[in-house]
Amino acid sequence: MSNTEQVLVLVKPDGVKRGLVGKVLERAEARGYTIARLEMRWATPELLARHYAEHKDKPFYPSLVEYMTSGPLVALVLEGAQVIVAFRTMAGATDPVKAAPGTIRGDFGRDWGTGEIQNIVHASDSPESAAREMAIWFPQA
Ligand code: UDP
Ligand code: MG
Repeated sequence: MSNTEQVLVLVKPDGVKRGLVGKVLERAEARGYTIARLEMRWATPELLARHYAEHKDKPFYPSLVEYMTSGPLVALVLEGAQVIVAFRTMAGATDPVKAAPGTIRGDFGRDWGTGEIQNIVHASDSPESAAREMAIWFPQA
């Protein structure tokens, strides 16, 4: 029996613009996880309304959509036992100012003074979120 998991990761538009796609992929590969899917995409407000359904009534939602549609992003699926918890740990705290050094957000992020939290990566936070988000980004899989 296999206990392999899959997690949906996004290298957000700030990560793509700043040339951090390679660094994110390098960390995932160095950790030993498999890249099961990988595609450059440009998010639409409609797709983001599904992806960020839990946040759609929050005050930061409009600026979140603006940020997430500000350029192309890279959507990927990583695979491996316990990859969901492991990659959330690798991503670090939501606010890069508070994210620990050694995490993706803590090593590469900062407050840019723009209001919204630009933090380079998204990662599903549970098996349920991972299944839901993979169905949104890779419906054919
Ligand atoms: N976000 C924001 N302002 C906030 C909280 C969140 O701009 O006060 C953005 C940020 O980019 C974050 C995303 O909304 O990554 C989703 O928020 P969540 O709390 O789910 O954080 P995550 O799961 O990404 O760590
Ligand atoms: Mg979240």
